[in-house]
Amino acid sequence: MSNTKNKYVVSFPHLGNYYIPVYNFLNNILDSSTTKILIPKMMSSSTVKYGEENSPDYVCTPFKYNMGNFIESLENGANVLIQAGGGCRYGYYAEVQEKILKDMGYDFIYIVLFDSNGIDVKKVFDIFKKLNPKLKFSYFVYRFLFTLKILNLLDKFETYVRDNYVYEIDAGKFDKLHTSFLNKLKYVKDNKELNIIKKDYFKKLHNIKLKDEAKRKDIIKVGIVGELYTSMEPYSSFYIERELLKMGVKVKRYTTATYLLLKKKAEEKNLLKKSNKYITYALGADGTESVAHSLELIDEGYDGIIHIKPFGCTPEINAMPILQKISNDFNIPIIYFTFDMQSSEVGITTRLEAFYDMLKMKKECNANE
Ligand code: SF4
Repeated sequence: MSNTKNKYVVSFPHLGNYYIPVYNFLNNILDSSTTKILIPKMMSSSTVKYGEENSPDYVCTPFKYNMGNFIESLENGANVLIQAGGGCRYGYYAEVQEKILKDMGYDFIYIVLFDSNGIDVKKVFDIFKKLNPKLKFSYFVYRFLFTLKILNLLDKFETYVRDNYVYEIDAGKFDKLHTSFLNKLKYVKDNKELNIIKKDYFKKLHNIKLKDEAKRKDIIKVGIVGELYTSMEPYSSFYIERELLKMGVKVKRYTTATYLLLKKKAEEKNLLKKSNKYITYALGADGTESVAHSLELIDEGYDGIIHIKPFGCTPEINAMPILQKISNDFNIPIIYFTFDMQSSEVGITTRLEAFYDMLKMKKECNANE
């Protein structure tokens, strides 16, 4: 690291396609003459291996995935790591991970964005200012807010694709447009350019021809509820969403970064009110959402619900008996998947296929009656 060019090599953990707004943010606030941004390697069995070998046994699984990402990045030259931090046990990840990695002999600067009270923008700015002394506070705030806009647009785009994927007439159109959209977002410079991308890509998105209502009625509709990391990082759930879409199932998922950062706090009371027949107090993390959104899916006529969580996730363990009661009360099938480093992809797929067959039979029986 002695050359000025790569004095700092900055990296962060993976979470779905959110590496795109993160990359855009860092690329704009850091000085490319001294800093390189290292997008972590795509998640793989080696990420899992590194994470598992260097994490406490009983810590929740996302901790291990993050550790795997960090170790791979450190091995590839990173010397600045960014961790989100935040509520639930996630709030303690940062300190423990830093300690473990430093005990392993890695030398790095560690940046934690959120604490239990949210984000202290000035504090985070002061850290980035050390990496780029030319950085101005007003510009940092502008880029931060702009990143939220990118993130929001990414979520809107991906939600539309998810909602309509199985209605696509010419297979492959959504995938192609999605890839091109991600490439554009990665380097978008300012509001003007973002608005052009938005207009252009949403026009193309809405021009993709979809099956009409009459041809949709036999399609199985499934909602995914559960823990946030497993919901948003596809590798951690063995790409459960993509598998369902491949089977021709319509999938609805509520959890996105936009929801967690901008809407969750405001909606919590409302969600609790909606589910007051089943819960009186918030279950912590995403547990309340799992209950409230399951009730919403039932109202919207979904055929089944998939509950996903990582091993060791207490809020979701608390939600499970309540979901079972909801399943019995409304006669709606709910399947539970717990993912850990030992889960077998074949086992998950087999259960998913059996669940699909059961939903299909149930739907056909209902139609015949
Ligand atoms: S929500 Fe679950 S997985 Fe996430 S930090 Fe909390 S306990 Fe761990």
